[in-house]
Amino acid sequence: MAAYEFETHEYDVVVVGAGGAGLRATLGMAEQGLRTACVTKVFPTRSHTVAAQGGIAASLSNMGPDHWQWHMFDTVKGSDWLGDTDAMEYLAREAPKAVYELEHYGVPFSRTEEGKIYQRPFGGHTTEFGDGPPVQRTCAAADRTGHAILHTLYGQSLKNNAEFYIEYFAIDLIMSEDGVCQGVVCWKLDDGTMHVFNAKTVVLATGGYGRAYFSCTSAHTCTGDGGGMVARAGLPLQDMEFVQFHPTGIYGAGCLITEGARGEGGYLTNAEGERFMERYAPQYKDLAPRDYVSRSMTMEIREGRGVGEHGDHIHLNLSHLPAEALAERLPGISESAKIFAGVDVTKEPIPVLPTVHYNMGGIPTNYWGEVLNPTAKDPNAVVPGLMAVGEAGCASVHGANRLGSNSLIDLVVFGRAAAIRAGKVVDPEAPNPELNRPSIDKAFDRFDGLRHAKGNIPTAELRLEMQRTMQADAAVFRTDETLKEGVEKMTAIAAKVDDLAVTDRSLVWNSDLMETLELTNLMPNALATIHGAEARKESRGAHASEDHPTRDDENWRVHTISRVEGNQVTLTHRPVIVDPLTTEAEGGIALKKIAPKARTF
Ligand SMILES: Cc1cc2nc3c(=O)[nH]c(=O)nc-3n(C[C@H](O)[C@H](O)[C@H](O)COP(=O)(O)OP(=O)(O)OC[C@H]3O[C@@H](n4cnc5c(N)ncnc54)[C@H](O)[C@@H]3O)c2cc1C
Repeated sequence: MAAYEFETHEYDVVVVGAGGAGLRATLGMAEQGLRTACVTKVFPTRSHTVAAQGGIAASLSNMGPDHWQWHMFDTVKGSDWLGDTDAMEYLAREAPKAVYELEHYGVPFSRTEEGKIYQRPFGGHTTEFGDGPPVQRTCAAADRTGHAILHTLYGQSLKNNAEFYIEYFAIDLIMSEDGVCQGVVCWKLDDGTMHVFNAKTVVLATGGYGRAYFSCTSAHTCTGDGGGMVARAGLPLQDMEFVQFHPTGIYGAGCLITEGARGEGGYLTNAEGERFMERYAPQYKDLAPRDYVSRSMTMEIREGRGVGEHGDHIHLNLSHLPAEALAERLPGISESAKIFAGVDVTKEPIPVLPTVHYNMGGIPTNYWGEVLNPTAKDPNAVVPGLMAVGEAGCASVHGANRLGSNSLIDLVVFGRAAAIRAGKVVDPEAPNPELNRPSIDKAFDRFDGLRHAKGNIPTAELRLEMQRTMQADAAVFRTDETLKEGVEKMTAIAAKVDDLAVTDRSLVWNSDLMETLELTNLMPNALATIHGAEARKESRGAHASEDHPTRDDENWRVHTISRVEGNQVTLTHRPVIVDPLTTEAEGGIALKKIAPKARTF
């Protein structure tokens, strides 16, 4: 057994992650006087949320009529009827409150002439339950919305005495014998010391796992650590086969050009200069949802109408927009286009390609952020002491496809909901749990094993194998054959974790070891993704199967639940929650409005 000295810290709540979700949860917990710690592997304002450009959706009606019921309808339809209806109602209904709170905390939103929060159109956001024109629902701070939100929430958390443990890497959860989460084991990256956090509630807010793929818009830190920890604790993941490809990653570099660029009037063209989205989505054109636009772009390229020397990408045109509008509303992406594509957006189109952007799946929760274990005897029981919010979680509001600007609002609505819930279930007077020592030792043993790994494959090499396989076999279009092959390849690749070679044995700033820990987290996420995709014999949202091109509500309107052990994955299912929280008589949405129908734009 590996013997590591450690320091113990006691808190009511420990939040792992300081992105938008983690900080909103931390702030909400601290405001209620709960002793709250936030542990993060990077400085809070470097979390991936900082890169969010386009904005945050809420039906404020600042630019024209809007209602939360319309927002809810769009989210249900956007999810391709796989989201949980109670959670989607909660999201749309609470969104305006959550945005006004951000405003009062100090987020510097862009303004309209009258001084209201500026809102732009975004894909899939409409009026009149999908019958009317696009709506301007996405609140923006120029094209740096995530940056503005993150800095504001960090400042407010400090003001409310939340304690931050910065550059601490969470290795594993501490679980009691009877399945209660008691805390988390962490490694302090800059001095190599070990820390055990003892908490009445742990909130996982560790973000997505975009780095399971070769080309993605997300930061190198997006390695699905929360999903990895949950899988090792014997708990399942949900709906992992749904991976969003953003239509406009810069060709080659993968950096994002926000959908806000199309919201402000940008449009896509093929090699013939044709605005092809008019053919695929006559009503909403370039503002159809992301899965739809990504598939249309891929079809154009496949049919020989891609642009560039190899005919392998598409053009995004902004040069017809007034230079002042570009400078005021899209300054960041004008700069990105210059740096990463060498393009002056006022004169030339930007070369773009669908790029992995967001993980709809994650750790299953209810709409209070409490983690569920649908493989337990009572599938609706929560895992005591454990919550998950943000991209790491799956409430599920995005179902099979997330609408643009619905993630930032998910972060703050459910970060806030988790805090509200913790205020009810966490008793500050109660003693902290007595920690289950074998669970702590297990975490150290795993850590020590990787630290001294003497196998044959360097971490970077195995990671690349995984990324290339996921990119090739679980892409925008999927076939039975590629998925079957992908499952076989990934099973073999995941087995090679036992043959990893780590060369640096030190404990201080050991990036080799940190990346190895991250790889062991990416791996279960990637396995669950490809297995879930292989099993799902239909097309829904971001999961487009060429062999099963239609949606099959009778057999497949169910959540995929995956248990990952080593390189093996076991799949079960959980019903989708179809009832909203409030009835039509209570001011809610009519069930017939949100009944499944064909998804056209
Ligand atoms: C380029 C880009 C642009 C986007 N634009 C928009 C947009 O305009 N609108 C929108 O709605 N959505 C947008 N999205 C999506 C949205 O930004 C993300 O889904 C969201 O920011 C995720 O937030 P999060 O709080 O869940 O996680 P993150 O912001 O990714 O933060 C994760 C946190 O967890 C910590 N962490 C992770 N693992 C560990 C560990 N093992 N130990 C300790 N700490 C750990 C990290 O340090 C970090 O603080 C965009 C995404 C990208 C990539």
